[in-house]
Amino acid sequence: TRLRPSSKRCAVIGGSGFLGRHLVEKLLERGYAVSVFDIRQSYELPGVTFHQGDLCDKQALLSALQDASLVFHCASPAPGSDDRQLFERVNVVGTQTVIQACMEAGVQKLVLTSSASVVYEGTDIKNGKEDLPYARKPIDYYTQTKIKQEKLVLEACNKQKGFLTVAIRPHGIFGPRDPQLVPILVDTARRGKMKFIIGNGANLVDFTYVENVVHGHILAAERLRPDSPICGKPYHITNDEPIPF
Ligand code: NAD
Repeated sequence: TRLRPSSKRCAVIGGSGFLGRHLVEKLLERGYAVSVFDIRQSYELPGVTFHQGDLCDKQALLSALQDASLVFHCASPAPGSDDRQLFERVNVVGTQTVIQACMEAGVQKLVLTSSASVVYEGTDIKNGKEDLPYARKPIDYYTQTKIKQEKLVLEACNKQKGFLTVAIRPHGIFGPRDPQLVPILVDTARRGKMKFIIGNGANLVDFTYVENVVHGHILAAERLRPDSPICGKPYHITNDEPIPF
């Protein structure tokens, strides 16, 4: 028998962030009860229980994951910082902690927000599929740890143990409350610093509207069942064609 969404509780790790909050809002709309786990609380919403803590702290995670059958992991340090230790601690060690806590708490499904940069080697990719290999030379520590994180989550998928995982790989995300992409572009342009072209002006980059990224996460979560081909697999999320940048 299939449980109706309204009978389900899910947890969003990183739910105070840009993508996390959009995900929380859509999950509420679809009748889920939602627990948010984050190092900060950035808003309040009816139907959402907030748990403040660091995802490297298993005890703190365990209390937030109580009764959750489905967990979304979309927490990460900001990509720009290039702080190797921080990325290793949060994205790698922290993700191991998330997986252990999920298994101990009896969570059945874990959906990871990965990144399309895990397959990026510095040259344009057009119509790239999920069978592309992981980048051998990741462009920065953020990407290096997103690769390790994704491998950990996908390898943890275990049908016998009733623990199913999937990863979603967006690239640039835009939309309301975006703290990085568009505000930084606009600010740079206002300061007159957008006069340089790197490369020949035809480099490709992929942007996806935040609600489409959320939709991809929820579809993956709801399709994730023991008999599903998506178990343990990564999926690129994109709007359509990449655009020249
Ligand atoms: P964000 O910075 O808005 O949100 C991340 C959240 O994680 C924040 O609320 C932060 O407080 C929380 N967090 C950080 N460290 C934590 C810790 N140790 N314990 C608990 N919580 C912690 O970022 P976002 O843009 O919403 O990104 C969400 C996810 O999407 C990340 O995994 C990121 O790698 C991925 N992603 C984002 C983009 C993009 O363009 N924004 C593109 C590709 C992938």
